[in-house]
Amino acid sequence: MTSTLKKSIAAKRDDLVVLTRDLIRIPTLNPPGENYRDICEFLDRRLSACGFETQLIRATGTPGDSDKYPRWNIVARRDGRKPGDCVHFNSHTDVVEVGRGWTIDPFGGTEKDGKIYGRGACDMKGGLAASIIAVEAFIETHPTYCGAIEISGTADEESGGYGGVAYLAERGFFDPERVQHVIIPEPLNKDRICLGHRGGWWAEIETRGEIAHGCMPFLGDCAVRHMSAVLSEFEDKLFPAMAARHTDMPVVPEGARQSTMNINSIHGGQPEQADDFTGLPAHCVPDSCRIVIDRRFLVEEPLDQVRDEVKALLEGLKASRADFDYELTELNSVLPSMTDRDAPVVQTVAKAIEDVMGKPPEYVASPGTYDQKHIDRIGKLKNCIAYGPGILELAHKPDEYVGIDDMIDSAQVMGHALETLLMPKA
Ligand SMILES: [Zn+2]
Repeated sequence: MTSTLKKSIAAKRDDLVVLTRDLIRIPTLNPPGENYRDICEFLDRRLSACGFETQLIRATGTPGDSDKYPRWNIVARRDGRKPGDCVHFNSHTDVVEVGRGWTIDPFGGTEKDGKIYGRGACDMKGGLAASIIAVEAFIETHPTYCGAIEISGTADEESGGYGGVAYLAERGFFDPERVQHVIIPEPLNKDRICLGHRGGWWAEIETRGEIAHGCMPFLGDCAVRHMSAVLSEFEDKLFPAMAARHTDMPVVPEGARQSTMNINSIHGGQPEQADDFTGLPAHCVPDSCRIVIDRRFLVEEPLDQVRDEVKALLEGLKASRADFDYELTELNSVLPSMTDRDAPVVQTVAKAIEDVMGKPPEYVASPGTYDQKHIDRIGKLKNCIAYGPGILELAHKPDEYVGIDDMIDSAQVMGHALETLLMPKA
């Protein structure tokens, strides 16, 4: 890395603090998806001033999009003087609800003891600010760079990314012809490279029975007992099978380095009554019981196998258990994504971390999903990682913050990576 760029990024510390605070002060809560237009216009002013051509794109018709809560995104691009690769920094602009337990104004952008506090400080306005500072310093230092730089601010990552990166990917914004390297500055810690994430499969299972008087259950058929048979199959067969599977994915935390499944909800029989209901239940045999399952799977497991494994257990019960019947409804699925360790963006950022931080990076994968799925699966662009400042465990918590030194360090890593990828080779 050139010492000029290194000094330039360090000198932008105050600018970085103000930028992060300004971003936090635009409360882009999702749901419902507030102030997306405002944050896009803010980014538009900032990036236009630095020579970027910008497009504001509304993801019309995507989940949650309405005239009251339009899903606005910004894509900014600045071409260099000569042909070359395009490096794209993608940040989501939405933040999750505030929740209880805050001791500091969640949208004040308070700076205290070297940290900036606020909802989204860590996830991921700090990362967005660090990438902008890195890019601005790089352009000032190397105005004749090759290729292109893109910065996007996208909606709805916290609710699946359908009004953000997925929408843009469907329209060719992550076509490998247009973009060659993607860095998503999610808060994975400044010395870690996140290669990808596990997959997810969500489904509802309903068991059926027959309603009858509760004093003569033998005249009906209890759907809750049928569901208990389903849960027993899960306990006896599915959970042990999932625990025995090993993955090459470096998922953190360690407990997520296998397949997992959460039983998200269960409901059977008479509907729950309102809190002010003081009556007693009527006596009925439940004719329906439903659960929602949240199955997280590994890059080594095809989605068909994940689905078939559950179906096989249900079909087994249908064959062996009297009067057992079920319906399985798929709710959503996300395929796993994992970038190769020898991919150019991984190698470049790894070298940058080693130079800036003085030690090799740790490679991780995320237990949940993030927008890499859309860049990989829709955009067909494999050369993508998450790398950014902030402590992952602080995301979505009260008194969320991002460390200013951490932002500077990761901006140095991003600047280093830009020099490697966009400077003319002598
Ligand atoms: Zn995030």
